[in-house]
Amino acid sequence: MFNKILIANRGEIALRVIRAAREMGIATVAVHSTADADAMHVRMADESVCIGPPASPQSYLSFPAIISACEITGAEAIHPGYGFLSENAQFVQIVEDHGLTFIGPTAEHIRVMGDKITAKDTMKALGVPCVPGSDGGVSTLEEAKKLGDEMGYPVIIKATAGGGGRGMKVAQTAADMESAFMTARAEGKAAFGNDEVYIEKYLTTPRHIEIQVFGDGKGRAVHLGERDCSLQRRHQKVFEEAPGPAISAEERAAIGKVCADAVAKINYIGAGTIEFLYENGEFYFIEMNTRLQVEHPVTEAIFGVDLVREQIRVAAGLDMTFQQDDLTINGHSIEVRLNAEKLPNFSPSPGRITQYHAPGGLGVRMDSALYDGYAIPPYYDSLIGKLIVHGRDRAEALSRLNRALGELIIDGVDTTVPLFHALLAEKDIHTGEYNIHWLEHWLERQTDW
Ligand code: ADP
Repeated sequence: MFNKILIANRGEIALRVIRAAREMGIATVAVHSTADADAMHVRMADESVCIGPPASPQSYLSFPAIISACEITGAEAIHPGYGFLSENAQFVQIVEDHGLTFIGPTAEHIRVMGDKITAKDTMKALGVPCVPGSDGGVSTLEEAKKLGDEMGYPVIIKATAGGGGRGMKVAQTAADMESAFMTARAEGKAAFGNDEVYIEKYLTTPRHIEIQVFGDGKGRAVHLGERDCSLQRRHQKVFEEAPGPAISAEERAAIGKVCADAVAKINYIGAGTIEFLYENGEFYFIEMNTRLQVEHPVTEAIFGVDLVREQIRVAAGLDMTFQQDDLTINGHSIEVRLNAEKLPNFSPSPGRITQYHAPGGLGVRMDSALYDGYAIPPYYDSLIGKLIVHGRDRAEALSRLNRALGELIIDGVDTTVPLFHALLAEKDIHTGEYNIHWLEHWLERQTDW
């Protein structure tokens, strides 16, 4: 096992990793930009290293700064968290070239899954069901129009290098194709330096269902059921739950096995998420994320496992602490993402926290790096915390969420907390009847925050 690991991240996820390491008796090194000198992850880690100025490319994304921090402190392995360098194959290669261990999948797995066309081809070959669409990339507008006519509208044009909801455009009819195709290409080029696009059938009322998988890198892999992350704004998740209210035990076992078998076949190592759209009882693969997800705690809650501990174990060459038969679902869990944003436009609201009080009690987990007097810097993601609740069933989890939100105090900045209070008053949230468009439609109808 490692003696010391470095966490190449900030905010709540850096704390999350520090906590797992500490329980395992592993020393931790935090890295931080000058803007984060007073951040909680710096205070909580055993050691810290300043790696550069506020702008991420010069600090949290800087290969030399992070590798040097490992060399200075003697850290043997790097946990990337999510975002930043977590899915950067080149970084993984450099980490390995320096004799260090990357706590995550191999550079090759990241490369394959990071390109959506290659990922889809790989998954199809492994027997995973995919959204009907073009066979690989589509390079001309004529080809795109021809495919649209053949497949039938609506279709979605996606940049193969896209992510975070960027580089995707829907063409409702043939008349939209030209602008959708050109925009998706331009966004792919501008944001990811790659203008290759492909086309998929646009599903009109699907749910977003993702399967958590975990591999030991030696050909063994398990699944930890699904999360329903259908409540999204601009393709960004805001509310996630496990198990999914629309998924039966038989469906879970079947799709879970397909996913676990697929990643076992490629000797996948560590945590991964296979994302699907689910409509009329069918699953359609959209992408695989080769990292820990923001919403992993709902899975941890219902299975009673620590996914970060498992990531560290398999990276150190040890076995996972569970096999498929050990994994049984206990109750229901919901996570809401707390962002420093002002409603109704969700505009960023950085600033100083004048008062912070985290909720507690049975079945409540608050993952946040906030503290009284902390100043949220304007340079990074607006996620400031995740409130996760666990109950014996969905109804209990929802009432616990309501109770916990009532206890939470975050003063000094605007947050998305009122969004969740309002959502909990909605019948569809209680019946679980929502799809990936529900939240956008509901937001359009809200006039009063
Ligand atoms: P990203 O990598 O940007 O997150 P994804 O491929 O994971 O992109 O898609 C993100 C979201 O976009 C999905 O959760 C879903 O809401 C929507 N989406 C993607 N593909 C389709 C499709 N074929 N039909 C309908 N919606 C889609």
